[in-house]
Amino acid sequence: MIKTDILIIGAGPTGLFTVFEAGLLKLKCHLIDALPQAGGQCSEIYPKKPIYDIPAYPEILAGDLTEKLLEQCKQFEPGFTLGERAETIEKQEDGSFIVTTNRGTKHQAPVVAIAGGLGSFEPRKPLIDNILSFEDKGVEYIIKNPEIYRNKRVVIAGGGDSALDWSIFLSDVAKEVTLIHRRNEFRGHLDSVEKVQELKNKGKINLVTPAEVMNIVGHHKVEAVVVSQSQHIEKEFEIECDHFIPLFGLSPKLGPIANWGLEIEKNAIKVNNALDYQTNIPGIFAIGDVNTYPGKLKLILCGFHEATLMCQAAYQIINPGKKYVLKYTTVSGIDGFDGTRKEAPKAVVKAIE
Ligand SMILES: Cc1cc2nc3c(=O)[nH]c(=O)nc-3n(C[C@H](O)[C@H](O)[C@H](O)COP(=O)(O)OP(=O)(O)OC[C@H]3O[C@@H](n4cnc5c(N)ncnc54)[C@H](O)[C@@H]3O)c2cc1C
Repeated sequence: MIKTDILIIGAGPTGLFTVFEAGLLKLKCHLIDALPQAGGQCSEIYPKKPIYDIPAYPEILAGDLTEKLLEQCKQFEPGFTLGERAETIEKQEDGSFIVTTNRGTKHQAPVVAIAGGLGSFEPRKPLIDNILSFEDKGVEYIIKNPEIYRNKRVVIAGGGDSALDWSIFLSDVAKEVTLIHRRNEFRGHLDSVEKVQELKNKGKINLVTPAEVMNIVGHHKVEAVVVSQSQHIEKEFEIECDHFIPLFGLSPKLGPIANWGLEIEKNAIKVNNALDYQTNIPGIFAIGDVNTYPGKLKLILCGFHEATLMCQAAYQIINPGKKYVLKYTTVSGIDGFDGTRKEAPKAVVKAIE
């Protein structure tokens, strides 16, 4: 049994920052994540994309933000159960919770913070009969490392921002980029649509519309896709390629958390945002993208704010009746659980003569 003060479900940016804020209150955290690495959407969906709205970072890659968050919370020695999905929760007589994963790992804590983001997210897969047998053999639904496409022939399918943005990005990396969409119109930002048009005119992107990939050809890996194009008459042809990347978005699913007796609205957990982001079950909080309340914004900085307030409420549950006086880190310094101490240099006060 893994025991901790705050059990965090989801090691995305919100979960990671919770560790830091809890650490300032001397509370220990353990995180569970279904993915094999920390970072949530930032590391799984868009690690190489720049983010522009993180306070004090005019620009930071999503993957670098994850690294910084891990570095910031390291001193509070969080525990991790990675690659396992939180499946069940049981309330104990002493008020604590036991959360068990799909692999049977048990965790016990007086406070549970659900920072599950979009939930266990699954890419929407096109209905192509043999696509499953080519997964990780040239078929990818999420671009994690664009370098693997360097000097390769890539076919991207989709009509949204992801398909447009990656076609633009990979046109400088891959040997050949083909973008296939079943309509002539795209649903992306106008800028991106115009950029794709410009790259098409320069011969850097092959645009095939309205068309659909019907089949994948290859022995042990993707060698070509079979495309059906319906301009005036339907015609089928093959495009030779090394990678086929269907980017049809992700279908977010709350997964097992949806059966925990929590109030759910539009696939998100309802919380008390006037106070502390607690759910309808006392002791269980929901923070970050996973929660909903009037005016909710699914942004990283909102998750950070929610995590900070939630930790104050967790402190009261774990230390009933004990008063906590907020101190600035510049004044109190930080005592890491690993024995380190960070302290601002003592201010030199100049005497007034
Ligand atoms: C392409 C893209 C670009 C974006 N750009 C920006 C931007 O510029 N600025 C911005 O502020 N936001 C941006 N966002 C949104 C931002 O990524 C999210 O707001 C942020 O990731 C939410 O963080 P989170 O920690 O709440 O959830 P997530 O990052 O979704 O992490 C949740 C984690 O919980 C895990 N999990 C869920 N259920 C379980 C379970 N039952 N058991 C175990 N683990 C579980 C998941 O595996 C996941 O790792 C962007 C999103 C996308 C997709």
